[in-house]
Amino acid sequence: MSSHPARRRTRQRQVILEELRSLGCHPTALTIYNAVRDRLPRVSLGTVYRNLHVLAEQGEIRVLESLGERTLFDHRTDDHLHVVCERCGKVADVDSGTISMPEALPDFVSGYEITGIRGGLVGICPECQNTSVSPRP
Ligand SMILES: [Zn+2]
Ligand SMILES: [Zn+2]
Repeated sequence: MSSHPARRRTRQRQVILEELRSLGCHPTALTIYNAVRDRLPRVSLGTVYRNLHVLAEQGEIRVLESLGERTLFDHRTDDHLHVVCERCGKVADVDSGTISMPEALPDFVSGYEITGIRGGLVGICPECQNTSVSPRP
């Protein structure tokens, strides 16, 4: 089989997109890299990272930059809120169907034309609520 460079790049990107969608959460580039290695044994972390940013530019995925120091990737491209667990760092989607836009927004953003939601909520996830925290020394 010929390995046309452009076709190989397209296939790499497709595999990365498929794996991100099947992970279904908000993984880091490293998590995605580990997930695609079975199918793309020669891919490097840098290539995965570049492809993720190309996919984001193409509007196939979203990059979550406002949730701490980690860069996370989201297979969902619709506007939705995130909630971040302050103990384990897990990021979950908030069902934005329960939030009506833009009526739910407070008055202090008046004067702006609201185009979407990018921010996140902070909390403690159910798993961490059920785990007793060992006292710190
Ligand atoms: Zn947690
Ligand atoms: Zn999300």
